[in-house]
Amino acid sequence: TMEYGPARESAAEALSWLVDQGDRFGHFIDGTFTAPGPGFDSRNPATGEVLATLTQASDEEVNAAVSAARRAQGKWEHLGGPGRARYLYAIARLLQKHARLFAVLETLDNGKPIRESRDIDVPLAQRHFYYHAGMAQLMETELPDAQAIGVCGQIIPWNFPLLMLAWKVAPALAMGNTVVLKPAEYTSLTALLFADICRQAGLPKGVVNIVTGDGAVGERIVAHPDIDKIAFTGSTEVGRKIRAATAGTGKALTLELGGKSPYIVFDDADIDSAVEGLVDAIWFNAGQVCCAGSRLLVHEPVAERFHDKLRARMDKLRIGDPLDKCIDVGAVVDPVQHAAISAMVASNTEGAVHHADVALPDRGCFYPPTLITGLSPSDRLMQEEIFGPVLVSTTFRTPAEAVQLANNTRYGLAASVWTENVNLALDTAPKLAAGVVWVNATNLFDAAAGFGGVRESGFGREGGWEGLSAYTRPKARPKALAPVAPMAAGDGAPV
Ligand code: NAD
Repeated sequence: TMEYGPARESAAEALSWLVDQGDRFGHFIDGTFTAPGPGFDSRNPATGEVLATLTQASDEEVNAAVSAARRAQGKWEHLGGPGRARYLYAIARLLQKHARLFAVLETLDNGKPIRESRDIDVPLAQRHFYYHAGMAQLMETELPDAQAIGVCGQIIPWNFPLLMLAWKVAPALAMGNTVVLKPAEYTSLTALLFADICRQAGLPKGVVNIVTGDGAVGERIVAHPDIDKIAFTGSTEVGRKIRAATAGTGKALTLELGGKSPYIVFDDADIDSAVEGLVDAIWFNAGQVCCAGSRLLVHEPVAERFHDKLRARMDKLRIGDPLDKCIDVGAVVDPVQHAAISAMVASNTEGAVHHADVALPDRGCFYPPTLITGLSPSDRLMQEEIFGPVLVSTTFRTPAEAVQLANNTRYGLAASVWTENVNLALDTAPKLAAGVVWVNATNLFDAAAGFGGVRESGFGREGGWEGLSAYTRPKARPKALAPVAPMAAGDGAPV
């Protein structure tokens, strides 16, 4: 068992954990960290410095992780809901105890502002474990006909590394499954710290296994014959490949994919609140959010005033060192993503581009908050996910046109509607093709509410009852049917 010492919000403390681990990490398989092997560097995107060296999992290592998960699964399931809940509570408490360390490590690895990792990512991850500990306790009474699916392969993206891990691991464990999880190659450090938390919690070995590496490791997990379910969060492109690879195999599958979520502002909206909401919708985590409100649809009568206020607000955003508590926008995750965002914006031919009038740090992966107005609905920038701090905008004349524009996309993850007219809000929301619709709000998440998409944003839900059912299947042993008494004349006469 390792002690991390008193939590201080400093990079040095997070880095000391890396140094204690020797800066080179293997995988977490069958309850132990394996010896580091050939791999790749994980860098701090705000400085370019190498934080740690990670191992690219070999076929043998993936096999070992799956075997360990298989060996552990039966015992873990038979421990029963209340038995598993004790471990989930212990994990939740340890996440809470080491919250600052997780937040600093996440910010170093991903580039997101410390205010976000400290106030959003890490607390929501804790909440997810507490919630699912409670659900594990209820399982036998509330879901008596459900049983675990078995061994789950879980593949997650880099935008919310610890939180996406929590969304995957907590419900799987609560329902009696064991997991082999692969974090994204840019951001594996909080997953490795989480592995150490599992060890501290005394979690039985093999219940959680974490292997690092790139998409090739993900492909091996997807193809592994002894995995019963794949849960994936990431791009629609990779989701499509995974669906093809699992077709006909009998593996259960859930996909949480991309988005181009509309942010609809009607002329009677509280404009200042809508501007503030939009700052959260598109500049939270530098727009690297699957449900980012990345497509502004604004009612013509207020469009000019709204855009003016928005540009003024953008110019006041503070961009820079993610460890600084005053920073609004941090670094994007990697130079590869920076290049992709830059290329998308450079492809603009129709729109007027406003880059926020802010000074960028002279090193690191920073992209300024950006607004592109005057695009036609079919423009590539209106249709494709940019996954960066870039908002595109167009106008509408009628509520019907707003709905038509909002749904003019292949995605359907989230939507925001801003109006002071409750009838208009309630009329508009159900017409939107989206897994979640927020009214006069954005980015509201809760462990008890199912989150997920429609159309090319994927299928399956995470969180709440729906999320739990995605980690169970009907019991293989059907309950004996109660004997049915033969009907006598006059019984059960129809009315
Ligand atoms: P990505 O699809 O490139 O990678 C996601 C994960 O899949 C990574 O761990 C990666 O190593 C792995 N991977 C890559 N190729 C693979 C393959 N062929 N087989 C198996 N695994 C493979 O996506 P990303 O760039 O890491 O994340 C950004 C995307 O994720 C965006 O499109 C975003 O909208 C989406 N996202 C969706 C949600 C949601 O809940 N719907 C949440 C967060 C992110």
